[in-house]
Amino acid sequence: MKKITLFIVTALLLSCHDQAQEKDSTTSDSTQRQETGKEPTDPKDTEVWEPEPAKISFGEHNIPSDAIILFDGKSLDPWQSAKHEGQPADWIMNEDGSMTVRDKSGDIQTKENFGSIQLHIEWKNPSEPRADGQNRGNSGIYLQNRYEVQVLDSYGDNRTYSNGQAGSVYKQHAPLVNANKPSGEWQTYDIIFHAPKFDSEGTKVRAARLTVLHNGVLVQDHAEILGTTEYIGLPKNIAHGDAPIKLQDHSDNSGVSYRNIWVRKL
Ligand code: MG
Repeated sequence: MKKITLFIVTALLLSCHDQAQEKDSTTSDSTQRQETGKEPTDPKDTEVWEPEPAKISFGEHNIPSDAIILFDGKSLDPWQSAKHEGQPADWIMNEDGSMTVRDKSGDIQTKENFGSIQLHIEWKNPSEPRADGQNRGNSGIYLQNRYEVQVLDSYGDNRTYSNGQAGSVYKQHAPLVNANKPSGEWQTYDIIFHAPKFDSEGTKVRAARLTVLHNGVLVQDHAEILGTTEYIGLPKNIAHGDAPIKLQDHSDNSGVSYRNIWVRKL
């Protein structure tokens, strides 16, 4: 009797094994099947419990607890002059918790260097436009000091070249849509930046990538950064490591203001 039972069990196992192999040869997209040779039959087979994602909470202005606050309206301490490193950032602090570009004082940059990041930043153009085209509310957010996401008053009829309007990766990628709010209203950028990689000889082996939500609307979708965002000429790709986030003083009385700036390292 024992021999018969053993025979039946063995036959069943071999049969299952053959069926599993047959399925594997036709459907190879499941890691689970590839690893075990069996189709999972229990919901628990495909549950992953470890590691558990870290819990975060939200503070004032909905800032995630694991973010680094770069500007909260109280101080410009995390920033310095870009032209004269070590010198304080000399932009105008406003009573409403924002800061405004001090015209011709120069760009400011973070004291800390960053690689891949998630960046939240809010900006506003003057309610009364002061000029046209590239001179209406021009500033910019440079990732790693090199790659500019354009800030410009591109609301309404202020036409300029598409790859230079607000939400563009300057001179590389036009925004997918024009999501500008009227002059004088606060706007948001939420930026996901993946830094480029260079090998030991300085050759770029992975391009940087940028995703930008402008006022919650996708305007850059994992866009490939071709190199530095030059005003004149083609993008350059000189090897670099982590670097500051820089805000632009376009030196034309832009009147652009910023508030609520925070960053998360990725
Ligand atoms: Mg600019």
